[in-house]
Amino acid sequence: MVMDEGVIKYHCDWIKGKSVEGFHITALMQKRDLMHSLGLIGVYENGIGFGNISHRINNSYQFIISGTQTAHFPILKPEYYTVVTNFNIEENSLTCCGAVKASSESLTHAAIYYYQPEIMSIIHIHNHQLWQELMFKVPTSNPDVPYGTPQMAKEMFRLFDEENLGTEKILVMAGHEDGIISFGKNLDEAANILLNFIDKTDLKSS
Ligand SMILES: [Zn+2]
Repeated sequence: MVMDEGVIKYHCDWIKGKSVEGFHITALMQKRDLMHSLGLIGVYENGIGFGNISHRINNSYQFIISGTQTAHFPILKPEYYTVVTNFNIEENSLTCCGAVKASSESLTHAAIYYYQPEIMSIIHIHNHQLWQELMFKVPTSNPDVPYGTPQMAKEMFRLFDEENLGTEKILVMAGHEDGIISFGKNLDEAANILLNFIDKTDLKSS
């Protein structure tokens, strides 16, 4: 594979359509909006959005994820979700089907779904205090590895193999400031793992 200074550019094949129609995404929407209400999905003062959430479709490698540049919406309507129908971690590419595109961060979700068939839901949030608090106390990705890259996908595999990510179900991304991922066999588990830590450290944003 030809590499340009070690960076393989993210590529998204976008099939524009209203493809989340027909999927039951009420629970996904509720959890996403809850995360937004807690400030865990949202927008920095500089206008950069953060956070996303996904759910696997049945037992497939396909999943529904909140679309790119949607983190500012307090309530995210179904048309702002998209279906990732295919992905290639090595090539840093995916195919998505929906009214909005999937971000490059979707590849990290894809890597987890690919590697751990029992995981059904993934939540990616930002919280500075929790990020500092949990770094190297829970599985933590290498600080040199940025989010949404093939390297991060491989870093996930390493954390599953060498650290106890499969049982902890939460990780800190040291190379992605404030970034944390949790997951579980369903949306409740993914959310509760996160919220338990937030209750413990009393970080709930107003
Ligand atoms: Zn992030």
